[in-house]
Amino acid sequence: MTTHPSVRPAIAAALSRIEQAQPALQAFQSVASDLALARAEVLDAAGGTAGSLHGVAIGLKDNIVARGFTSTAGSKILEHYRSPYSATVVDRLEAAGAVIVGTTRCDEFAMGSSTDNCAYGPVHNPWDLTRTPGGSSGGSAAAVAAGLVPVALGSDTGGSIRQPAALCGVVGVKPTYGRVSRYGLIAFASSLDQIGPLARSTREAAQVLEVISGHDPRDSTSAQQPVPAFTASLNGDVRRLRIGVPRHLITSDVDRDVRTAFDTALDVARSLGATVEDVELPHTDMGIAVYYLIATAEASANLARYDGVRYGARAEGVSTLGDMYERSRHDGFGAEVKRRIMLGTYVLSAGYYDAYYKKAQQVRTLIARDYTRAFESVDLIALPTSPCAAFRLGERADDPLQMYLADVFTVGANLAGLPGVSVPCGLTADRLPIGLQFIARPWEEATMLRMADAYEAATPWKTETPPTR
Ligand code: GLN
Repeated sequence: MTTHPSVRPAIAAALSRIEQAQPALQAFQSVASDLALARAEVLDAAGGTAGSLHGVAIGLKDNIVARGFTSTAGSKILEHYRSPYSATVVDRLEAAGAVIVGTTRCDEFAMGSSTDNCAYGPVHNPWDLTRTPGGSSGGSAAAVAAGLVPVALGSDTGGSIRQPAALCGVVGVKPTYGRVSRYGLIAFASSLDQIGPLARSTREAAQVLEVISGHDPRDSTSAQQPVPAFTASLNGDVRRLRIGVPRHLITSDVDRDVRTAFDTALDVARSLGATVEDVELPHTDMGIAVYYLIATAEASANLARYDGVRYGARAEGVSTLGDMYERSRHDGFGAEVKRRIMLGTYVLSAGYYDAYYKKAQQVRTLIARDYTRAFESVDLIALPTSPCAAFRLGERADDPLQMYLADVFTVGANLAGLPGVSVPCGLTADRLPIGLQFIARPWEEATMLRMADAYEAATPWKTETPPTR
C-alpha cells in the first residue's frame, strides 16, 4: 500500500474522486470531508510516517460505526444514527495512520447479495452501471474497483465481502471467525459475522488484515490468537500446497464462463507447483438452507433492539406504547428485513424450534465436520466465489430464493467459521469480473493469502480495470 508522507493532498484527492464518481456509482452513503481533512492535518502536523497505513484513505461499510460518522446500515430506522463510540477496527486503522473518508452503501442490515435491499438505493457496478456490484458490501467493492479508495472494510455473514469482491474484480478477505473484533459492527447474525478488507491486491488486503486483527476484550468471541505477519508470508512459494476441489458442488447451474475461468485458474495453480485433487463436502448442499435458518433466527433476535426507544427512528403521532413499537418497526424496516425477522421468529418459536432451528444447528455441525475432514488431506479448498457474474440491478429483487442461491459457495466458510478469500480470476465475454475463492483451516489466513497472491502474480487480472476508471 502506498503510504503518504503528506496526508492532506492524498485525502483531498480521494475526496474529489469520490465526489466525481458518486452520481454514477452511489458507492458511498456518506462522505465526511471535514472530518477526514481535519484528521489528515493532525497527521501532517504530527509528522513522520510511523503507521503502516499512514495517509491511506479508507471506506467503511455503513454498518461499522465510527465516532462523528452517521451509520445507517442501509436502513431507514437508523437514518440519523450517530454512534458515540468507534468500532475497534476503526480505532486500529486510525492508530496505524489510516483516514476514514466515508461510509459505503450496503444492503439493509447487510441482508442481501446485490445492494437492491439498501433503503437509500442501490450501488452501481463500475464495470457496467446497469449491474449490481454484489452485496451486501457492494459500496465497498465498487469504491475499491473504481479506484476511489485503495481499501474499504466490509462485513461477511454469508459471503458479503467475497461475493461483491468477485463481482467487482477486487480482492476480498473474510477472516476466521474470532480473528477480527466485531465490537462496533451493527449485528446481523452474530455467530457468522466477520469484518474484513476489500482491496485491489492480496498484499494490500493482507496489510489491512494485519492491522485490524487480534484479540479485543470488548468482543467476547474474539480469539486470543497471535496475529502472524500476513504480508511477510506472501513469498510466492506455493509448491506442494494441496488444493481440494469439491467438484460435486460445481454443477451445470454455475455459469459456463465461471466454470471455464475456475478450471483455468486450477491449471495456473498446478503450474505454480500446487497439487489439485477432488474432495467431498457431503453436507454442503444443505448450506443455503441451514444458513437462512440460522442467520434469520439470529437476526430476529438482534433486530429486536430497534424499537423506537433505544435507537434510531421513532414513529410520530401514535397513542400507545404498543402502537409506537409497531409503527416504528413497520415504517423503519424494509421488506427483506421484515421477511427475515418473520422467518427467524418462526423458526425459533415453540413447536418449530426443534424442527427448524435445532435441526439447522445439527447440520451446521455436520458441515463444519466435512471441512475438518477435507482439511486432513488438503491445505486449501478452491471454489468459484459466485455461480454467476454481476447480474442486472433489480433483476432478482422480487425473487428472494433466486437471490439466496447466489450464496451457495460462500455460506459454508461462515457456517464453519473458516477464513476465505476471493481473488479476480477472469472476465466473462461481456467483460464482467469473475472471482476465485480459497478457503483455509481456522487461523491459516497466511496460507490462503500466499496462494491468492501467487495466483494474482501469475495472471493478468489485477491489471484489468473497469471502463469507468
Ligand atoms: N447474501 C447473504 C445474505 O443475504 C449474505 C449477507 C452477508 O454476508 N452479510 O444473508
